[in-house]
Amino acid sequence: MLPSPFAFERPSTIAGAVRAVGKSGDGMFYSGGTELLLALKLRVIHTDRLIDIKGINGLDRIALNDANDIELGARCTHNKIANDPVIRAHVPALSSLCANVANIRIRSVGTIGGNLCFGEPHADPLTMLAALDARLVLIGPSGTRVVHADDFIRSELETVREPDELLTVIAFSRPTGPVTYRRFKHGERPSVNVAMAWSLGPSGRTIRSARVRVGALGSRPQPLKAIEDVLQGISVAEVRPAIEAVLPTALGELEVNEDRHGGAEYKRHLAGVLLLRNADEAIAAAGSA
Ligand SMILES: Cc1cc2nc3c(=O)[nH]c(=O)nc-3n(C[C@H](O)[C@H](O)[C@H](O)COP(=O)(O)OP(=O)(O)OC[C@H]3O[C@@H](n4cnc5c(N)ncnc54)[C@H](O)[C@@H]3O)c2cc1C
Repeated sequence: MLPSPFAFERPSTIAGAVRAVGKSGDGMFYSGGTELLLALKLRVIHTDRLIDIKGINGLDRIALNDANDIELGARCTHNKIANDPVIRAHVPALSSLCANVANIRIRSVGTIGGNLCFGEPHADPLTMLAALDARLVLIGPSGTRVVHADDFIRSELETVREPDELLTVIAFSRPTGPVTYRRFKHGERPSVNVAMAWSLGPSGRTIRSARVRVGALGSRPQPLKAIEDVLQGISVAEVRPAIEAVLPTALGELEVNEDRHGGAEYKRHLAGVLLLRNADEAIAAAGSA
């Protein structure tokens, strides 16, 4: 099926894109188009105007800034992130995550911003970005605001972004410990995924703090609070038994949607397996540092 007719605009600035999309939200930003064009062709969404953001300079930049924050432009494709030297050096798990999203065609044109703004719960990047405590920078007609990755999804396929706000940058502090990611999938997209980020003490053998997120079970990534609490302040050697002691409680606290990816008990089990695999990888990484 063909989409209904729409106008096409190519602004060269962020302000121009925000103006062009319009307050009422009848225009839509067009980045790689991998989700958008499918949805328009299926006529599950409609727009009278597509605002192509590919011509805006600097939206596909990746940098480590003076404040030790890593910044990803929202127009970075999965491929670009996978192959970027800054990401490979400082967050190899994110490079590997992006190298395994979808297929080569999607990774070549699909962007991190489009992935986040589509709000699909069965997605890879947001789980890791939430574990990294990433901030998402949105620019709209009334200025700039920053939303934490944890708070970006409102419900399935719905984010807190206003229709006339452009996601420009995703920023997070350069990790000071292992960052790991595991997912399980039956089809194209993850059924369950788990990401973990540790901050290590000066010796490299003690965990100062840990962030653990489980994705794809509900509409947005969820923290495993009991695991984060038990990891805080312990030595790397104590991690496995500490996690195992609280794992059933932690998994029991997860909200789980039952869908074609499986039932609640099955998905909780998968989350536990993936968490322990993350932990083993992080233990090994801390040991070899
Ligand atoms: C076959 C297939 C397999 C896939 N497998 C996976 C997978 O394994 N894991 C995974 O995580 N994802 C998967 N995806 C999703 C894929 O990652 C996304 O399609 C892609 O990243 C979307 O980026 P895009 O630039 O094409 O977005 P677009 O299609 O251009 O846009 C998507 C939505 O975001 C809005 N938007 C885009 N950029 C911005 C911005 N900067 N600011 C505000 N709004 C914006 C658009 O208006 C639109 O509503 C898959 C997709 C397909 C089609």
